[in-house]
Amino acid sequence: MGAGDATMAAEQTASPAMRARGSRNDQTRRHNLSALLTAVHYGGPLTRAQLTRDTGLNRSTIGGLVAELADLGLVVEDSAAETGAVGRPSLIVRPRTDVVSLAIHPDVDALEVGAVAIDGTVVGRRRVALDAPPSAESAVQIAAAEARFLLGSMPGVRVAAAAAAVPGLVAMDASTVVDAPHLGWRGVSFGERLSDALGIPATVGNDANLGLRAEWGYGAAKGHDNVVYLNGSASGIGGAALLGGVMLRGGRGYGGEFGHMMIRSEGVECSCGRTGCLETELNAVALDAAAHDDEALDALARTLARAVANLECAFDPDVVLLGGFLGTLYEEREALIETEVDRHSFLPKAEGASIARAALGGNRLLIGAAERAFMPLLADPAGTVLIQR
Ligand SMILES: [Zn+2]
Repeated sequence: MGAGDATMAAEQTASPAMRARGSRNDQTRRHNLSALLTAVHYGGPLTRAQLTRDTGLNRSTIGGLVAELADLGLVVEDSAAETGAVGRPSLIVRPRTDVVSLAIHPDVDALEVGAVAIDGTVVGRRRVALDAPPSAESAVQIAAAEARFLLGSMPGVRVAAAAAAVPGLVAMDASTVVDAPHLGWRGVSFGERLSDALGIPATVGNDANLGLRAEWGYGAAKGHDNVVYLNGSASGIGGAALLGGVMLRGGRGYGGEFGHMMIRSEGVECSCGRTGCLETELNAVALDAAAHDDEALDALARTLARAVANLECAFDPDVVLLGGFLGTLYEEREALIETEVDRHSFLPKAEGASIARAALGGNRLLIGAAERAFMPLLADPAGTVLIQR
């Protein structure tokens, strides 16, 4: 056997193993890139030391990964003497602000489009007021036109993807709006239509789920893995829950419709066809009407407390987060609501959940939708193509 044959034989025997190791290394590298980008996505500018602590990777590995993320145009590294300590200024890794996702929020009275940078900052937004709830088709057209305008004003920006926060049930395919009663949409493949119109990948999520996701990443639920969220808006009461760090989805993706839990069997008929749902007993119209009526406001606060106590019994959350008009009601009647929740709660008083007002206000749904849109990029930074506009 000649030297050439020996080499060939060695290659033949070694190749599969080497290939396997190579692909394992590649997998590890991609996983580490994902961990690093995710850390700066939520943690903002971080030093290499902080990245070492947050990801558990060693310093030299982090150096190589940061360089690769910088080459991909996702982060920048610069020196910043942020502590004023003596010695070398430490290197800070920050997500680039010219990489964005598009967030779209169609609602009954307006459609909003936002550009959200990879650090969760809303860097641009457009809002179109509407006289009537938009059809899915007109929502797509408005979104596409506004997105063009928005991106046109941001030269050099690169787009990861788009996502829409819709007030309704969204199927597991993250595209089909199964039923959005307040918009009158049924069985609409909104994600697919958006993607066609925008020319970038687009997905859809339930508005309350995305709202909670935003609060978990950047707002009042940060650091908590068991959270129940209730949000009051013009289109009713949306709900979502995070359990053990996992979003409650249910078997078909419709879990968390707390706005339709029955509160009063003798109640008013709801848009869902049943009676006495939370959102028919407590809504923006009722709250407006109670603005100068203490007794009516107390009654609405008690209704909210009953709902919160029921949810605490069901989920044993660390925090119950209240957004929109429910957050306003909570601030106006905090003592009453706390007392009533304790009175109705099944759990020992000292171990009850804390109640908090959601923190992100008008940015919440844009940030939440962008969180959904950034998922593929965060999962595989090297394998996701950014679209230059
Ligand atoms: Zn209902």
